[in-house]
Amino acid sequence: MGSNRELQPDMVVSASHVHFMTNAATGRKMVYFLSTACHIGTDRMKIISRFAPSPTGYLHLGHAFSAWNAWTRADVFLLRLEDIDTARCRPEFAAAILEDLRWLGLDWDGDVRVQSAHFAEYQAALEILRGRGLLYPCFCTRAEIARAQAAPHGVELVYPGTCRHLSEAARAEKIAAGVAYALRLDMAAAVKQAGAGRFFEESRGWIEANPLPFGDVVLARKDTPTSYHLCVVHDDALQGITHVIRGEDLFEATHVHVLLQALLGLPVPVYAHHRLLHDAQGRRLAKRDFAATLRAMRAAGMEPGAILQQFEEGRAA
Ligand SMILES: [Zn+2]
Repeated sequence: MGSNRELQPDMVVSASHVHFMTNAATGRKMVYFLSTACHIGTDRMKIISRFAPSPTGYLHLGHAFSAWNAWTRADVFLLRLEDIDTARCRPEFAAAILEDLRWLGLDWDGDVRVQSAHFAEYQAALEILRGRGLLYPCFCTRAEIARAQAAPHGVELVYPGTCRHLSEAARAEKIAAGVAYALRLDMAAAVKQAGAGRFFEESRGWIEANPLPFGDVVLARKDTPTSYHLCVVHDDALQGITHVIRGEDLFEATHVHVLLQALLGLPVPVYAHHRLLHDAQGRRLAKRDFAATLRAMRAAGMEPGAILQQFEEGRAA
């Protein structure tokens, strides 16, 4: 970085990705990539990406495709285990994920980040939001929420806000009585404080974030003191992720992630969402499909090179 050679053809990116500014003091032309203000000099911006599976089962072809998408593009490829759900995650699945990725040849850089070793960090992030008056305890059961709200948003039910208006006394009484509670984000208040923000999605362009339809999302669950949304934005920032490359199923969640980044003062990475693989019946691959696991494929004598070749050619299996 930092030399003054002319721009090389391999770093030419579309005009919507960059803007140029001249530093008045030095006269040097600076290239700003999106909003990250990264001086890329004559080098292409280094892409730092990650694969972040949950060790609740064996990796299947869909996971491998996601890992491969990030791996092929990244200059630095990191591996993160999203194992905050300590009841469902198992060490043998964690070990199997590492083994299967190695078998496939998708090597990662540095240490594996294991989320369950960092609950204190997520707690600190929660405290920032609590300090801004944006969290409240929710004592509802899943069944109560389902009864109160018929219209689903994706797979998650939109919370009707039942506990948002409980008095401090009522909250204290329930907590003293030992009623389990989750912590929810007061979405309307959060958007008011931070603005919704925007993000760059590679296949869609700039998108104004609109997290309001998600309602008051859970940021700390009853059974685990944090949540997917909170951990993923914290870790992406901590690990210096420049490009979040993940499946299309996670596109909508980006609206919530960009809001959390604004509230926590974290940078917004570039987002890219790849298509999902489907089985022969057109269904999305899921953990139930043991036949599609890398483990089963290896046992059946399939070569890793053949799998990667299929990814390359855009085929599923
Ligand atoms: Zn509630």
